[in-house]
Amino acid sequence: MTTVQRVLNFSAGPAVLPVPVLEEIQRDMLGLPGVGMSILEVSHRSKAFEEILARTEADIRALAGVPAHYKLLFLQGGASTQFSMVPMNLLSPGGAADYIDSGSWAEKAYKEAKKIGNAKLAASSKADTYSHLPLQSELALTPNADYVHMTSNNTIEGTEYKVLPDVGDVPLVSDTSSNMFSKPIDVARHGLIYAGAQKNLGPSGVTLVIIREDLLTRSLAKKATLPTMLNYQVHAENTSLYNTPPSFSIYVVGLVMKWLLANGGLAAMAATNERKAGKLYAEIDRSGFYRGTAKKEDRSLMNVTFRLATEELEKKFVKESTAAGLDGLKGHRSVGGMRASIYNAFPESGVDTLVAFMREFERTNG
Ligand SMILES: *Cc1c(COP(=O)(O)O)cnc(C)c1O
Repeated sequence: MTTVQRVLNFSAGPAVLPVPVLEEIQRDMLGLPGVGMSILEVSHRSKAFEEILARTEADIRALAGVPAHYKLLFLQGGASTQFSMVPMNLLSPGGAADYIDSGSWAEKAYKEAKKIGNAKLAASSKADTYSHLPLQSELALTPNADYVHMTSNNTIEGTEYKVLPDVGDVPLVSDTSSNMFSKPIDVARHGLIYAGAQKNLGPSGVTLVIIREDLLTRSLAKKATLPTMLNYQVHAENTSLYNTPPSFSIYVVGLVMKWLLANGGLAAMAATNERKAGKLYAEIDRSGFYRGTAKKEDRSLMNVTFRLATEELEKKFVKESTAAGLDGLKGHRSVGGMRASIYNAFPESGVDTLVAFMREFERTNG
């Protein structure tokens, strides 16, 4: 159906979307079925949009097994705004929050929280250029902290938690921007989960927040002082319709959720993602020509980071892979090297193509 020549998109975000989702958007762009208007034109107060919102929420709940005592919020401002909203809402006067500094985004979250209140560093792997995750035994946790903040997948450095840190009864807050719904998630072990949509959930413009209902009382207590738009309770009580939500982005997230459900849900995604990443890591480890940058046990299934012997060779790799239709393999500007982002929607055949390219590149440059 697609006549456009699509590249293999390894971008970290905004990132590849499922082709059937893009085709459905294209098909319905002049008018949603039975509505006669496109999603871009329809009022967020209309029945048509309310249905889209409700279905998206219901599908997320079904997909991730979100317990009834958790609220779903569709917010704006990206995951970066959550770096501020989390402490603004969840830190109590005189309270403290613990931050696990496992990567560049985690550090940003910590720095923002420090502007708001007493944010403490529970552990950091920065001295090791974030190539591994802090161990459970390294965590210096504050008794009765208001929450512990973690980053489930470190997008830039390519590390990912396989097991959640144990934080006792303290609410665990997780930035899951780059691996949300790439595998089953135990929502009940979290107080709050957030993710910018543009990596694994849909397009940019919407941030998904899943928050345990009882934590909303903290936001309620701050009603007089917190800016309205930054108050979780306001968005929860208005089912994300306090003001105009990012309707198009929500609609696309809804289509992606439908695609995930139709393709076996999160367990099936996990199996495919393990296979995809496994092929890439096997190639990286095969000969020593490539070098993985993350500690093996902590390797991410979503963002595969690796280097070559020299920066010159890396430049050549980027140039030639781009020319071959493998787009976006250049690592984040802060760390260099290579990064292959292979989210849910990235096809396994594209991983095979990259592996073949890597072999050929090694053959001609090794
Ligand atoms: C991309 C990313 C962010 C920033 O997301 P924005 O939506 O651009 O603000 C935050 N945390 C993680 C883990 C990310 O991967």
